[in-house]
Amino acid sequence: MSNIEKWIERAESIVGSGNVLTAFEDIEFFSHDEYAMEEFACMPAAAVRPGSEEETAAIVRLCAEMKIPLTARGGGTGLSAGCVPAARGVVLSLNRLNGVVDADPDNHTITVQAGMALHDLYQHVKEMNLFFPPHPGDEGAFIGGAVAANAGGARAVKYGTVKRYVIGLQVVLADGRIANLGGKFIKSSSGYNLLDLMIGSEGTLGIITGVTISLLPPPGVSKTLVVPFADVAEAISVVPKILKADIMPCAVEFLEHSVIRCAERLLDRSWPARDGAASLMLILDGRNEDEVLGQAEDLAAIVEAGGALDMLLAEDDSRQADILELRSMLYEALRPGTVELFDICVPRSEIAGHIGFIHELEVRYGISLPTYGHAADGNVHTHSLRCRLDDGIIGGDLPGWQEMHEQVRQDLFADAVARGGVISGEHGIGLAKRDYLKAMSPAANLDLMIAVKKALDPDNILNPGKVVLV
Ligand SMILES: Cc1cc2nc3c(=O)[nH]c(=O)nc-3n(C[C@H](O)[C@H](O)[C@H](O)COP(=O)(O)OP(=O)(O)OC[C@H]3O[C@@H](n4cnc5c(N)ncnc54)[C@H](O)[C@@H]3O)c2cc1C
Repeated sequence: MSNIEKWIERAESIVGSGNVLTAFEDIEFFSHDEYAMEEFACMPAAAVRPGSEEETAAIVRLCAEMKIPLTARGGGTGLSAGCVPAARGVVLSLNRLNGVVDADPDNHTITVQAGMALHDLYQHVKEMNLFFPPHPGDEGAFIGGAVAANAGGARAVKYGTVKRYVIGLQVVLADGRIANLGGKFIKSSSGYNLLDLMIGSEGTLGIITGVTISLLPPPGVSKTLVVPFADVAEAISVVPKILKADIMPCAVEFLEHSVIRCAERLLDRSWPARDGAASLMLILDGRNEDEVLGQAEDLAAIVEAGGALDMLLAEDDSRQADILELRSMLYEALRPGTVELFDICVPRSEIAGHIGFIHELEVRYGISLPTYGHAADGNVHTHSLRCRLDDGIIGGDLPGWQEMHEQVRQDLFADAVARGGVISGEHGIGLAKRDYLKAMSPAANLDLMIAVKKALDPDNILNPGKVVLV
């Protein structure tokens, strides 16, 4: 009997035979995530689905004892090949751990198991008449995955990323012990901040089984506005002026009209602005209609002075929904031609320069690099395509697109770092960006990351090969 066959037998005795999957058709799904390139796809030897924290801990203990690599998987919506096994180990799916542990409206907290999908979490929080602001684009993501990636989304400018709301975590450590970090309290100066160490650790330091989230009162009213400009540089130059004027939109997205055509074709709906080459899409929220309309008036004066060609307010819910859907379907619309979606984050003041650089690359290599993103937090999404994009239509493959993609990736990351930014603002490093993290991090930072990994996972059992190589 091989080592893995012995592991399967023992894992079945922990979780039941129906929860250890080995057939090709059952485990193929676990060989990839939403990352577009297939180069990182890797079949696991098996997938295991524990039904409790204790079963999860027992599986981790088994892996530690038998030296079997283990990769945690949430919703599999990641964009950096993070939940894909790098070596042919096993995948631990959290999908059976999806319940509410404790809903506490008095403390404004909810504690859930890590395998709860975000769409279910939003529903539970809504029933408490409270608000969990972070909204990474795909609600099929699990809360454990969102914590492990420190996910962001469009609302980060006003409300921050996932880490702002995580106040407690239950984590299975590499030796199978269960650690409870944080709790329902807001403040702690009690020892090292292990809670924050786990957030964004991409399954390499521990398996998150439970999450306690601090919630806010819901905003009450939100309005979506579209503001067209002659070009993207002009659109982006207005953003600091908006923020300086003490208007804090919930979201400020920039989009080039040549890119939005793709989503218009997919959905057969039209973007409200026809003039100009780029738009800002802003979401304003507040306690009531008067407060939000007051913000919109202040905003109108600023964008007009900044060269806006118009300011369009979505009057009703259905128009608002159309605009948001066009924005959120950009990824899907471009997906067929996408090799990789980048999530570079630069200081706000550097966005226009970084986008100018992207346009230079388009000319230099004769390619299309459709770009959009979160203008007020510096997070820029560029699609590296294998083909040209003309008026929203994805063309055939360009000769030599693979080499071109490598070159573009290298150029974009170097530009981001030179501008004081990072190579990933919200999707994580995974396998896809690991070698670039190594090349672009100061030696001291990298040494610290490796030291932490070695201290917490000395046998390199947890998601080996991701983030840093040890
Ligand atoms: C259409 C689309 C839009 C997106 N938009 C955004 C966006 O706006 N903002 C954003 O931040 N992201 C976005 N993403 C990326 C993705 O949705 C997020 O990274 C999400 O948080 C990943 O969650 P998941 O449960 O799918 O994690 P997975 O993909 O399953 O895993 C991600 C990483 O977390 C680890 N992991 C998963 N669960 C656990 C656990 N319980 N314990 C320890 N480690 C674990 C995995 O090993 C892996 O390293 C988007 C993705 C898509 C497809």
